[in-house]
Formats: sequence, structure tokens, C-alpha cells
Amino acid sequence: MTVLFGGLEAGGTKFVCAVGTGPADIVDEARFPTTIPEETIGQAIAFFEPFKGDLTAVGIGSFGPVDLDKGSDTYGYITSTPKPHWANADLVGRVSRALGVPVGFDTDVNAAALGEQKWGAAQGLDNFIYLTIGTGIGGGAMVGGRLLHGLVHPEMGHISMPHDLERDPFVGRCPYHKDCLEGMASGPAIAERWGKPGHELPDDHPAWELEAHYLAHALKSYITILSPQRIILGGGVMGQKQLFPLIRRKVQAYLNGYVQSPAILEAIDAYIVPPGLGGKAGVLGSMALGMIG
Ligand code: ZN
Repeated sequence: MTVLFGGLEAGGTKFVCAVGTGPADIVDEARFPTTIPEETIGQAIAFFEPFKGDLTAVGIGSFGPVDLDKGSDTYGYITSTPKPHWANADLVGRVSRALGVPVGFDTDVNAAALGEQKWGAAQGLDNFIYLTIGTGIGGGAMVGGRLLHGLVHPEMGHISMPHDLERDPFVGRCPYHKDCLEGMASGPAIAERWGKPGHELPDDHPAWELEAHYLAHALKSYITILSPQRIILGGGVMGQKQLFPLIRRKVQAYLNGYVQSPAILEAIDAYIVPPGLGGKAGVLGSMALGMIG
């Protein structure tokens, strides 16, 4: 018998599944659009089933909010998501019953953080954050070598933003807070503000200065609160590579010399970085969740 691990990145748009032992050894992988729980979770289970005899464990990194409290009746559920059909969906229970193996579970962004620590841009670090900027905005954090949980789990996408209505009259689109970070800087917020999706805007469009402005304010908050040793920025919006230098410069400007670290003052190019695992941080991180149990 071979020893294999399963990774399931449960995203609001798509589910990505992989079986293997790491980035250099992916035995099989698949992706499905996220439709309704019965269908999509069923497809994921069907993907893993042929490997049942060799699977040691599976890890799931999920969109949320999710219930991470192992003592709770709804542990392993997606809880209050506004995504139709997915509120109160039991992910861990269905997968563990069907496959009969231990299932590790965390948020999609905590999973990606773990993957980046094991194989990617955060190797050797015990304190860092992974942020995804895409359809939504979320952040995972490793603090003192452990993935950060608490009352529930961090919701870094929903922090308040300074909002100058004269510079940016867009009211924001978060259904809960309007102009929080996600409401102002997610992919759909960019599309709504400018009337077309980000990938149709030129690299020198003012959208990117504004996007970098909001993200840099968020990073300033995370840096001052958590003191991460590195910040990894992933997700579809960060495919716009011109954002990286803009964000780095603005983070330095907004911190204004207060945080006295060469990582920020002199080597910020190595401090705010894209994921080492690229688009596979989520699914490989989920596999890593299975490995740590
Ligand atoms: Zn919000």
C-alpha cells in the first residue's frame, strides 16, 4: 500500500481536489464548479473513492464562515454563508463517513498558509499571514507556529477602511458592512466600481492605485496587530502583478517609518510576496491539513 493524502479546497466558485504527498508528487487532481452541496461534495467524494485503500487522511480547506469547534454539533459545517444552498452544509461529516479516514479541517486561507509554510513562500517562518484577494477577501494567520483560531476564526476581509467619498464615491458591496475591505477591494467590487472586470482594465488604470491604497491600509493594520514576518498575497486579483510594487510602496508610506524592521524598510520585495505554490496553495495546503490531522 502506498501512503497518500487527499486535499480538498472547497471554494465558493470551485472545488479543487488532489491526491498525493506534496507539490512534486500529485497523483491525480480534479476541479468542479460549486453548485449545490449534494452534487459538489458528492463529486469530491467520487474523486477520492478510487484511492480509498491508500488514503491515510484527507484535509479540507473551506470557504466560510465555518465551524472549527470540535466540541460543537456542527463542527465541520459551513455555517452562515450568504451563498445560496450552502448555509449549514456538513462538509467534514459527509467526507469522513464516505471515505472512512481522518479529516483535517480549517478555513481555505489557513489551509493555504499551512501549505505555504510547508512547501512555499513561508518556509522556516512561524509568524506570517496569507491573504486571498478574489471573489472575496480572507486571511489566514500562523502565529507562534500554529494556525490562528479563536472565538471562530479570523475574518481579515471585513476590517473597516478609511473611505474618502470624494476620491471614491463607490459605496461598497459587502452585504454586512458595505465599505469594509472586502466590500471595497474584492474582484466584484472592482468590477462594480469601474463597470468592467479587473482583467479588462489596463495596467495603468487608476483602479490599481486605489486597490493598492485599500490593501496597503489593511496590511498596515495586520502588520501592527500581528507583526507577521512575511505577508503572502494570493487570489485572482493579485494576478495583476503591477499591484505588488504599488502595495509595497504604500505600506512603507502608511507605516511612515514606525515599524523599525529592515524587512519593511529595506527588503520589502521579499516581505510582501506572491504565493510560492501559485494557484495550488489552497489544495496543497488542504493536503497538508490532512497530514497534521
Ligand atoms: Zn464586510
